Amino acid sequence: MNPDNSIVQQHINEIFSAQKVQALKMRNSTPLLRIALLKKLLNWIKINQEDIRRAVFADFKKPYPEIDISEIYVVTNEINHAIKHLEGWMKPKKVPTPIIMLGAKSQIQFEPKGTSLIIAPWNYPFNLAIGPLVSALAAGCTAIIKPSEMTPHTSALIRRLVEETFDKSLVAVVEGEIQVSQMLLAKPFDHIFFTGSPAVGKIIMKAAAENLSSVTLELGGKSPTIIDQKSDLSDAAEKVIYAKFLNCGQTCIAPDYVLVHESVKDNFLSLLKAQIQKMYDPKNKGIQHSKDYARIVNSKHINRIKILLSDAEKKGAVLYSGGSYKETEKYFEPTIITNLTEDMEIMQEEIFGPILPVLGYTDLEEAITYINLKPKPLALYLFTTEKAIQKKVLKETSSGGAVINDCSLHFLQNELPFGGVKTSGFGKAHGYAGFLAFSNEKSVMKQRIGMTSIKPLYPPYGITGKKIIDGLLKWF
Ligand code: NAD
Repeated sequence: MNPDNSIVQQHINEIFSAQKVQALKMRNSTPLLRIALLKKLLNWIKINQEDIRRAVFADFKKPYPEIDISEIYVVTNEINHAIKHLEGWMKPKKVPTPIIMLGAKSQIQFEPKGTSLIIAPWNYPFNLAIGPLVSALAAGCTAIIKPSEMTPHTSALIRRLVEETFDKSLVAVVEGEIQVSQMLLAKPFDHIFFTGSPAVGKIIMKAAAENLSSVTLELGGKSPTIIDQKSDLSDAAEKVIYAKFLNCGQTCIAPDYVLVHESVKDNFLSLLKAQIQKMYDPKNKGIQHSKDYARIVNSKHINRIKILLSDAEKKGAVLYSGGSYKETEKYFEPTIITNLTEDMEIMQEEIFGPILPVLGYTDLEEAITYINLKPKPLALYLFTTEKAIQKKVLKETSSGGAVINDCSLHFLQNELPFGGVKTSGFGKAHGYAGFLAFSNEKSVMKQRIGMTSIKPLYPPYGITGKKIIDGLLKWF
C-alpha cells in the first residue's frame, strides 16, 4: 500500500467507525428527524442548482435542460415523494395472524439496516449518487458515497454538498478510483447499493459476500424496443430518438436496439432519421454544433464505441445514418445501423452510446424469441395499439421494467419499483421500494402471557395434542 492509500484507508476506517456508532442512534430516529434531513438536502440542491448544472456540464457537456430533468428534478421529486410518505412507510404494518395462533398479534416493523455504502456510476453522476442517498436517509441509515472518478467535477460537487449538509458520522463522501472502491468494499457495511455495469456488479457481490452485506445491484444490459406494425410510427420514432440520444446514448435504460416489423421498417427508419434532424439539427448547421446534444464522457468510451461500430461494419452492417465522430471534442454523431448479425459485438454487449441498431422481424414470436435468448434486460419498450400484443409481450418476456408506447418514463414514476432482473440487477430502487432496500422488515409477533393455543402441542405428547394435530392435518 503506498502512503497515499494508507491515508485513505485510515480516513475510511475513521468514518466507518463513526457511522457505526451513529447507525445505532439512527434506530431511534423519528419521521420528523428524517424529514428534516431530507429537507436539508432539498434545500442545498435548491440553493446550488446552478453549481450542479456547471459541474455536470463540465464533465460531459450535458445540456442544461437535460441536467434539470434527469439530474436535478428526479432527485428533488424523489425527496418530495419521501417527505410526503415517510411517516406512513415507517409505521409498523399489521398483518393477520392464523387461527392456530389465536390471541397472538403480528406486524412488520421497519428498522434501518444500519451503515450503507453507495457506489455510483458516471452517466447520471448526480442523480445516481444522491437518489439512493434519499432512500438511505428515509430508511434511517448512515451512508458513505463513492461517486464515479470519471466525472470529477460532479464528484467534487457531491463532496461539497455532503460536507456542507451533514455530519460525516451520518453521511460522508469518499472520492477515488477502483482501489478506493475496493477499500470501502472490504468494510462490513449493512447494505451496499451499487449502480454500474454487470461486470463490476459481480465484483461487488463477491466482496459483499465476504461480510454477508446485503446488496442492491442496479446494472445495465441491452434494452430492446419492439415496434409493431400496428403502432403510431411517428410518435414511436420521436420517443425512441429522445430516449436513445438523451445523454448521448449513455443511459442504462436507453433503447439499446430496435426490433421493427418488416412491413413498416423502411418507413420507420426514415422517421427515425427525420427525428434526429428535427431534435438535434433543425437549422441544418451540423449536429456537432448542437448545444442540445451531450458528449461522450471520455476518450476511452469514444474508442469503445468506435470499435463497436467498425466491428459491425466489417461484419456487414450498413450505416443508415450518422457514424461520424470527433475524438478531441468527445463528439459522436447519433447513428443508426441496419443489416445486423449476432456475431457482431454491438449485438452482444450493452452499447451505452449513440448508436441505434435497427433489426426487422416478420412474426412477433420471432421478436420474443430473440429477446428471450439474450440476458434479461433492464427495460423493454413496446409500441403497439393492440392490447393482445401488449399482454403477450409482457407475459412472454422478462425485464426489470417495461413501458408501453414510450421509453424510459418509468424511471420518473416513484410509485413503481425501479430495477433489473438477474444480469440487469436485483433489488429495487425509488420511493417505497428504495426505503425497503435500506430497511430490515423485522417480523414481530406479540403473544399473550399464560395459556395460549400452542401450549397443548408441547411435550409430553399426549392424546389432546395428537387430536389437535390430526385435526390440523385433516383441515389443511
Ligand atoms: P462501472 O461499473 O464501471 O463503475 C461504477 C462504479 O463502480 C464507479 O464508481 C467505479 O469507480 C466503481 N468500480 C469500477 N470498477 C470497480 C472494481 N473493479 N471494484 C470496485 N469498484 C469498481 O460503471 P460505469 O461505467 O460508471 O456506468 C455504466 C454502467 O452502469 C452501464 O452498464 C449502465 O447500464 C449501468 N447503469 C445502470 C443504472 C441502473 O439504474 N440500473 C443506471 C446507470 C448506469
